[in-house]
Amino acid sequence: MTPQIHLHVLASGSKGNAAVVEGPEGSVLVDCGISRRALLQRAAELGVDMGRVRAVVLTHDHSDHVAGLSVFCNHFEGRLIATAGTVGARKYLTELPFELVGHSDAFGVAGMRVRTFPTYHDVPDPMGLRFETDDDALGYCTDTGHLGKEALEALRGVRILALESNHDERMLASGPYPAYLKARVGGACGHLSNAQAAQALAQLVG
Ligand SMILES: [Zn+2]
Repeated sequence: MTPQIHLHVLASGSKGNAAVVEGPEGSVLVDCGISRRALLQRAAELGVDMGRVRAVVLTHDHSDHVAGLSVFCNHFEGRLIATAGTVGARKYLTELPFELVGHSDAFGVAGMRVRTFPTYHDVPDPMGLRFETDDDALGYCTDTGHLGKEALEALRGVRILALESNHDERMLASGPYPAYLKARVGGACGHLSNAQAAQALAQLVG
């Protein structure tokens, strides 16, 4: 594969998530869970040109993935892309001019083909993403309780794989967290444990 796609993770974790996927004809911002100011500052530190961003794609509507979007959109005229479930989950998202896609869909942006696949999380219609060109591919999957067949298919054979690894199962079970949080995080619609992520990596990367 010839490197044509690049990934910059600007923020990851419960305080905010945002990543820039650079393609041959522009970039895509995946999620916008930090303030515009923090986003621009981190992009500048990494030498990422935010002027190349052609679209924002949302994986799901949790606030650590969308909290910065309203302000970002005040200064952005590119495309906004998400599932109907994500857009419908928050009133302010319904007021933005989103292009709706399905969770098993395909579209083109910034010189890349994007394939979506369903993830399993406690929100309406979340999705993961595979970006590809003829010579390169990147998989991006966070915030899912488990990886379904479609996810494993879409994430296979990529040059760059961003896969969440959220918690140690034993530390979660014995940690000082309320029972509802343990059930949510460790459940089938929560987050991948380290062991689940490791197992998936062995399958995907070999
Ligand atoms: Zn989430």
